[in-house]
Amino acid sequence: MIPATVSQLVNDKFQEAQKNENVVFKKLESKIVKDSESGMRFFVSLVPSLNEKPEFGQTDASKDPLAENEPELLVLDDLDGSGALKLVLNKFPITENHSLLITNEFKDQMSALSPEELMTSYKLITKMDNEDENKRHMIIYNSGPQSGSSQSHKHLQLIELPQKFIPFQDILTNGKDHFLPSIKDEPLQDNKVSFAHFVLPLPEESEEVTEDLLAMCYFSLLQRTLTFFQDWLNETPDLIKSYNLLLTKKWICLVPRSNIKAKTLDVGFNALGYAGILLIKEKETFDKIVETPNVVNDLLFECGFQNTAGVKPNEYNY
Ligand code: AMP
Repeated sequence: MIPATVSQLVNDKFQEAQKNENVVFKKLESKIVKDSESGMRFFVSLVPSLNEKPEFGQTDASKDPLAENEPELLVLDDLDGSGALKLVLNKFPITENHSLLITNEFKDQMSALSPEELMTSYKLITKMDNEDENKRHMIIYNSGPQSGSSQSHKHLQLIELPQKFIPFQDILTNGKDHFLPSIKDEPLQDNKVSFAHFVLPLPEESEEVTEDLLAMCYFSLLQRTLTFFQDWLNETPDLIKSYNLLLTKKWICLVPRSNIKAKTLDVGFNALGYAGILLIKEKETFDKIVETPNVVNDLLFECGFQNTAGVKPNEYNY
């Protein structure tokens, strides 16, 4: 069982780690801005400390920093009593209490999430949301070389959603009941944003959310997500597919990814970008985005695929 006080445990550990400089965290400025065309809101942060975080391919492949954790970062070595996952503070947090759920046994970051991993993630979010009703949590999974992941040891990330920030998926699912996709009912997709994404509302009552239900949601969205790579398979049969998963208590969202970084402003995204949470290393880029938030939709499109809202599935794309 996940401890009822898990939020407190994470917070205590984080405060201690910050005091002792075991985490590299120095956020300078954040602003909420809105793209007037898509209506998408962005929480833009200038985070120069991200320059210290290794990127994909920059780490020594023979070393696995997520296998042996500094004791100062370890919150729980067995998150839910099954022995499968540990909960560890992120060494390079982007918010307070930013943590990782890491498999105790090595599994590859390209592997699909198991129903158990999904359920533990959902339970953790639910517990943490309930522990402090002023906070909302999101778990993300970056899978594949273009997804923005930097470590190959399987891990999910847990963050607190910024106060007063509304991801566009909240608006998209607002007032909608849970459903599983079918030919008649496609996953939700906001036709005003540029990039393809697939969203399902989750049942309001957490007791109704089971391992099976989460697995069905995930695999049905994954099927649609992977369809985008079919056109490339002839040329690159060994293609490793990339996508981001975002999970809150209210909804689950998958985003197929084509590039890790937009060349236009040299900005990289992981799943957070596709909730509108932008982490910017350079002041000049930060200022540009704050002044003209409408550019972000183009950047997210450059790293994703064309939005397919309203396009009917056929025998090749479903
Ligand atoms: P991703 O970039 O999605 O693969 O997530 C990996 C996360 O691990 C990043 O957010 C890093 O900040 C974090 N990280 C890298 N090295 C360590 C470490 N030694 N201990 C804890 N977290 C780490």
